[in-house]
Amino acid sequence: MSLRSILIHPDPRLKKVCEPVSDLSDELRSLSDDMLQTMYDAPGIGLAAPQIGVNTRLIVLDCVREGEGDARPLAMFNPEVVASSDEKSTYEEGCLSIPEQYAEIERPAEVSVRWLDRDGTEHQEDFDGLWATCVQHEIDHLNGILFIDYLKPLRRQMITRKMQKLKRERARG
Ligand SMILES: [Zn+2]
Repeated sequence: MSLRSILIHPDPRLKKVCEPVSDLSDELRSLSDDMLQTMYDAPGIGLAAPQIGVNTRLIVLDCVREGEGDARPLAMFNPEVVASSDEKSTYEEGCLSIPEQYAEIERPAEVSVRWLDRDGTEHQEDFDGLWATCVQHEIDHLNGILFIDYLKPLRRQMITRKMQKLKRERARG
């Protein structure tokens, strides 16, 4: 396993619609391992393939908080929200591609998600609470959508400018 570097917004690779997985290869399985390691290392609770520059419908997540039970690393290939509740919930969201910026985002409180695991087995499960928010945030990435896209334009531009500045500073090292 190896750590991958995480793209920082704005980056055209974060705005693309990703390609579905048709063949679950060892290469994709090892990519999902790398993504989980990169996510835990960050640390974060979710990561989508486009965030490491891979244009594939693959997300990883683990929303078990430290000290609240065993880790539950999930790798989802071709994840899809098949049903969502009318009831909404609001969480303060962040994103590893938009470091240190947070905003309250409203989403369906419960979602039913269908996906393929690393062996190609299909799963469907209902998620609520933080898991529901996280899985929707990550699936959005596969469609080129960032959480700041739900904010008013002015706020979004402000965050984008901060990220441009951050990238310039990092490039200068
Ligand atoms: Zn994100």
